[in-house]
Amino acid sequence: MKIVIATGNAGKLREFRRILEPMGFEVVSMKELGLTLDVEETGVTFAENARIKAESVCRLSSLPAIADDSGLCVDALGGGPGVYSARYSGMGDDANNEKLLRELQGVPYEKRTGRYACAICCLFPNGDELTAEGYCEGVIGFELSGNHGFGYDPLFYVGERSFGQYGDEEKDAISHRGKALREFVEKLKEYQAQKA
Ligand code: IMP
Repeated sequence: MKIVIATGNAGKLREFRRILEPMGFEVVSMKELGLTLDVEETGVTFAENARIKAESVCRLSSLPAIADDSGLCVDALGGGPGVYSARYSGMGDDANNEKLLRELQGVPYEKRTGRYACAICCLFPNGDELTAEGYCEGVIGFELSGNHGFGYDPLFYVGERSFGQYGDEEKDAISHRGKALREFVEKLKEYQAQKA
């Protein structure tokens, strides 16, 4: 089955590919289709924003479209930046991480808890819809560490290491996106079996 991934984020696209391709799905990017994602993420939940993106790309491509909306929810910031994670500083990943460190200045280790959240929505041209969610608990560190991953990974610690220090497979095994994708793939297999 050919599926388009409704994201312009290269980090997310890599993670979708490395989980879905070994399962036999033909993954195409929006770039490969000459499309750009030009929708406003007006939802107040990750699930609403994922649906907005999938809907737009499914309509434009006439292919099943998977979108994820994800972000970092920090307890000491009342769950923020949440759905605003990508737009937190308005100046990209490095500035987002600097702002997060600034806002958590003086907050002790035990209060720096948070979680990554990921909502996935897959819309089919016939209007069918599959959804899944995943979460990953962690702690926001006091300094950036590691250069793997993307976004907030160098500040997001699970155990002794940040996600910036995790290998790809290690991250996928416990990450919000890995969990959501595995749940999604199970639903997709059931969906395919019903249609067969
Ligand atoms: P979205 O593209 O609107 O879903 O925004 C996702 C944003 O959340 C990214 O730009 C990152 O800032 C953050 N984020 C989501 N998932 C991850 C992850 O796995 N690692 C690091 N940052 C992430």
